[in-house]
Amino acid sequence: MRSELYIDGRWVSPIKGGTFDVINPATEDVIHKLPAATAEDVDAAVAAARRAFDKDGWPKLSGAQRATYLRAIAGGIRARQQEIARLEVIDNGKPLPEAEWDIADAAGCFDYYAGLADQRDNDPGEAIELSDARFTSRAVKEPIGVAGAIIPWNYPLLMAAWKVAPALAAGCTVVLKPAELTSLTALELAAIADGAKLPPGVLNVVTGSGSVAGQAIVDHKGVAKLAFTGSGPVGSKIMAAAARDIKRVSLELGGKSPFVVFDDADIDEAVEWIMFGIFWNQGQVCSATSRVLVQDGIYGELLRRVVEETQKITIGNGVEDGILLGPLVSKRQYEQVLGAIEAARSAGATVACGGRRPDGFERGYFLEPTVLTDVPLDSDAWREEIFGPVLCIRPFSDENEAIELANESRFGLAAAVMSKDDVRAERVAVAFRAGIVWINCSQPTFTEAPWGGYKESGIGRELGYWGLENYLETKQITKFVSEEPWGWYLKPSEA
Ligand code: NAD
Repeated sequence: MRSELYIDGRWVSPIKGGTFDVINPATEDVIHKLPAATAEDVDAAVAAARRAFDKDGWPKLSGAQRATYLRAIAGGIRARQQEIARLEVIDNGKPLPEAEWDIADAAGCFDYYAGLADQRDNDPGEAIELSDARFTSRAVKEPIGVAGAIIPWNYPLLMAAWKVAPALAAGCTVVLKPAELTSLTALELAAIADGAKLPPGVLNVVTGSGSVAGQAIVDHKGVAKLAFTGSGPVGSKIMAAAARDIKRVSLELGGKSPFVVFDDADIDEAVEWIMFGIFWNQGQVCSATSRVLVQDGIYGELLRRVVEETQKITIGNGVEDGILLGPLVSKRQYEQVLGAIEAARSAGATVACGGRRPDGFERGYFLEPTVLTDVPLDSDAWREEIFGPVLCIRPFSDENEAIELANESRFGLAAAVMSKDDVRAERVAVAFRAGIVWINCSQPTFTEAPWGGYKESGIGRELGYWGLENYLETKQITKFVSEEPWGWYLKPSEA
């Protein structure tokens, strides 16, 4: 495990020497200490990133040259997949097979953006037809500058990849700040980039708190673009701060996503996707379909099956075989989720299963997967993100009611619908006010497809070509091509 910051291609101690603890959420043991960067370290990281952008020519390399580095990073991640996955398990708590999947996806993300970097070389820009034949014009895309990437703890390496890969492919340089709860693998990413001979300053990784290191990135005049994934309140603060310097900003925030199940759905399939939609990663997923709406005809049977299967989920330390639910990421998160369940109970909800620490677990932030029924529509449990393994489920009678209930939210990240009637499913997909819609499934995520939310779930899109555009500016280049003089101040006859 690394113990230093990665700035300008070197491993360095933080200028003020501070550290913070890394805690394994399954055991509550302090397993490591990491450097707590301050504004001084961020300043050094931004200066290095600026040099790499302005002087050392990272944006001037061809797309193919940048792609070579990205592919080398992808290869470096794959070569260490097992080891990195294990680090994520002891850092975040997720079961090992989930972590392995995340690490493979992170490598795939670098490969995918290497492909887009390659394609940029063949992009002459977009010719623009003008209304005046004396001019030609074209639009070209150029990298924005230094990108400050601030990420959460639920998918530590994958969230880093979602930002670093497109930023580097676009020609930006990066200062990355991982979440203080899960910073181990971001430093491994730096080590892999270093091994891939990425030029100094192109990627810098500073670990530390949000209020100190994160805020310093947000406030830094040398940062041109802020890419943030995390909570709504912090996203809102970042957007306000970005407004001061007119920094470009993209935000991926929270959600309270609905899953509408019609009564023609196959019950087994519905049970599986409902559970995958909320218990995967301990429910700490921004797009989790945490509000399930089930049509009257199958509500009773479906609820019975969901409860039955939920109670079979194997809980334990994510490094052990056969575990499907690990601990929550931290004591604070654990207490918040337990508090949300208590508040739901007080508001009149019924705990159909779970809602407590499982028997036999004295240490670790373990919580039984929880199903809540009778959740009042005006309660926090129905309206606010819990970010834990807590499902709210209620019946509906017809399509209009389902759409209305689904869309009645200040969030709009994701939504899912399940029905054998394809026309109806497509109609509901269109009616959802959300950036990501799943039909007959919930959660599968592809690097090629745009990711982001409507309403308070964020601004901008990651992944796919949209993710690359996050790090590009558009420039028009207009040329005067007429043989005739312009003739405004100097009339042709007098010239
Ligand atoms: P958080 O907002 O507390 O922290 C996210 C990151 O921001 C961390 O790195 C943190 O250190 C940093 N930060 C905190 N305060 C800061 C400040 N003042 N200035 C700059 N940086 C600061 O969120 P979290 O608890 O880490 O993550 C959980 C939240 O993230 C949930 O609400 C979840 O829905 C959301 N999330 C969204 C997506 C998405 O794609 N939309 C993905 C994952 C998580």
